[in-house]
Amino acid sequence: MAWPQTLIDACYFIAALLFILGLKRMSSPRTARGGIVWAGFGMLLAVVATLLLPDMQNRGLIVAAVLIGVSAAWWSGRRVAMTAMPQMVALYNGMGGGAAAAIGASELVSHAQDLAVRVVAPNTFPLMPESWSPLHGATAVAPLSPVALALGVLGALIGSVSFSGSLIAFAKLQGWLDRRFVFPGQQIVNLLVLAGAVVIGVMLATGHLTIALVCAFFVLALLFGLLMTLPIGGADMPVVISLYNAFTGLAVAFEGYVLQNEAMIIAGMVVGAAGTLLTQLMAKAMNRSIGNVLFGSFGAVVGGEAQAISGSQKPIEAADAAVMMAYAERVVIVPGYGMAVAQAQHKVWEFAQLLISRGVKVKFAIHPVAGRMPGHMNVLLAEAGVPYDLIVDMEDINPEFPVTDVALVIGANDVVNPVAKTDPASPIYGMPILDVADAKQVIVVKRGKGTGFAGIENALFYADNARMLYGDGQAAAGQLVAELKTLDG
Ligand code: NDP
Repeated sequence: MAWPQTLIDACYFIAALLFILGLKRMSSPRTARGGIVWAGFGMLLAVVATLLLPDMQNRGLIVAAVLIGVSAAWWSGRRVAMTAMPQMVALYNGMGGGAAAAIGASELVSHAQDLAVRVVAPNTFPLMPESWSPLHGATAVAPLSPVALALGVLGALIGSVSFSGSLIAFAKLQGWLDRRFVFPGQQIVNLLVLAGAVVIGVMLATGHLTIALVCAFFVLALLFGLLMTLPIGGADMPVVISLYNAFTGLAVAFEGYVLQNEAMIIAGMVVGAAGTLLTQLMAKAMNRSIGNVLFGSFGAVVGGEAQAISGSQKPIEAADAAVMMAYAERVVIVPGYGMAVAQAQHKVWEFAQLLISRGVKVKFAIHPVAGRMPGHMNVLLAEAGVPYDLIVDMEDINPEFPVTDVALVIGANDVVNPVAKTDPASPIYGMPILDVADAKQVIVVKRGKGTGFAGIENALFYADNARMLYGDGQAAAGQLVAELKTLDG
């Protein structure tokens, strides 16, 4: 069964509208859930319309592949822990890039084969009857315009880099690979591999289509993605994941042009644009230029010895911490990755509500890269029911720390580490932080002396005004709630 082209075009138009409106709704936590559903329906419509294209072949195989993919995604999506979300995003994003690269590969290979048969076959046996020719009965592959060929090659390059790079990002976030893998002359090797892929890509795009060149092109493009991502560590990982997301969008849009599929072009452009904006925002939040992220030595230690941190960590009991906050005028709660691990958001909000009922002014401070994915803390706090007007972004909350009586840091580490401002040898040097140390008193909830994602000591924990409340985030928040209740009782 096939639908008329106009009906399919109308479906693509509606799908594109749903993508754009869905994305718009995703920009606010209130409407984000609905936005995802809208965009999901858009994708469903686009897939169904594509299946019903008049010249579509192998429908059965495609439906089987879709069913396998959907089941795997449904199963993994339901059981993934919130803390493992970044690697899941990296993996799925890589699949998108891989799919775009596969479209490019299939187009390039079929054109290379077609060219080989048409150029070689007729001359091989000039006296051969026409019916014996390999060309007899073969459907010619419609030639690609020069623009489509160039975009197809570009999409294949970007998609391949995004695919292999995202797989490395996944392996690193999953703890399967060392955080940072560096060797001497790495940048030069990377550059040579990229140059090789680009040169072969230009040859392909200008019509020198052979299977050997296509294979060499993909090997180099995939290798570049691996090499580019291997040295990334420290705090740059989120920017890179977002960058690959933008890459995937672009690759899909380019391959959409090759297939003349409007839904792919629009969806790809939307993802590419959104990913690029997010990358820029995150790079800004980490004080890195996109150029530096692209071509610099990712997350590399700037050089020199890290500055020694003096002082000692001073513990505090939950009862004393609760009293300190109960009689404070302003408390700012700073959640981080540890709150996600401990699933402490509900207890933390219960504690905040008790403080608010005592007349304490409570706010939640969010660093753009707190946790392990963009918006991680916003999602958790929204899940616990924290009202949006209590959640404040870094630029807005930082001027308020000097007038804050107590900053309660729960499971955050790198995003409140003052060495980002003071120690040029630190891997996080230059990353804007939440200026928690400026608060009159700081209470830090964490299990022990564990470091954060960047693996470095935190000067805040040794500051004169900081006290450590050791324990699991949820248990500690539970103790604070219990202690406050005894005060009230
Ligand atoms: P960090 O990873 O820096 O620190 C988390 C802290 O939580 C640790 O020091 C750990 O200390 C503590 N912790 C762990 N488990 C628990 C628990 N059950 N209860 C209480 N505390 C716990 O977190 P931040 O949010 O401050 O920083 C995020 C980091 O992740 C940044 O470096 C960022 O660049 C990076 N990143 C961010 C991404 C994003 O998109 N947001 C993506 C990928 C990386 P202890 O072991 O002592 O308990």
